[in-house]
Amino acid sequence: MGPPGAGKGTQAKRLEERYGIVQISTGDMLRAEVKAGSAIGREAKAVMEAGKLVSDDILVRMLSARIARPDAAKGFILDGFPRTVPQAEALDRMLAEKNMALDAVVELKVDDAALVARISGRYTCAKCGAGYHDSFQKPKVAGVCDKCGGTEFTRRADDNATTVASRLESYHRQTAPLLPYYAAQGRLKTVDGMAAIDDVTRTLTGVLDALTQ
Ligand code: ADP
Ligand code: AMP
Repeated sequence: MGPPGAGKGTQAKRLEERYGIVQISTGDMLRAEVKAGSAIGREAKAVMEAGKLVSDDILVRMLSARIARPDAAKGFILDGFPRTVPQAEALDRMLAEKNMALDAVVELKVDDAALVARISGRYTCAKCGAGYHDSFQKPKVAGVCDKCGGTEFTRRADDNATTVASRLESYHRQTAPLLPYYAAQGRLKTVDGMAAIDDVTRTLTGVLDALTQ
């Protein structure tokens, strides 16, 4: 959990490597649908460009199908889901059906003032999806992806100052109310997301390692 630009995708990819379980990013899934021009993509495109939330109905169906796939059988890292109370309730039902439970809900806490700089400098490798930043996370060789050697990069259509304001508003109004929901279940772990990327990873893995001991 965390506002747009908090570092969820960056950290989730690192956790994926460390713990050997898949990252499930509903934002990535929706962007793939938009690119493919599917029915879901056609419905989601304008909503995403406006920085609003896509309907719970679409998201719950999409996530339910995704977690039924074999690579999710031993666990997964949700990135960008749930974002509303009905999504969280649907998730509880989906997990109960599978005899699974959330081990933890991690909140990456970042001041709103830091987010615009993070989002406006964000870009990803077009080939493998590795994430970068103009100032905070540059590839070792300029213009070449560290992970796959790719030389083409993309920026998200919704990563502009106007849309960010609306995405932040959606976060505070619709998603932040989930924090007390998970705190009441004793699952919420809050991590300072203002620190440098490697420091956030250290704190986060410390919190998660402690759960498995
Ligand atoms: P989210 O998935 O929460 O929207 P990202 O992981 O894509 O956020 O991070 C947004 C941008 O900020 C990326 O370009 C990333 O490289 C950069 N970033 C992530 N974490 C940090 C951090 N702790 N400090 C500075 N920049 C960061
Ligand atoms: P993200 O990549 O997580 O920043 O998501 C990008 C956009 O996809 C959001 O601004 C929403 O429009 C949409 N989206 C992603 N996940 C969800 C979700 N769980 N519920 C509703 N909309 C979502």
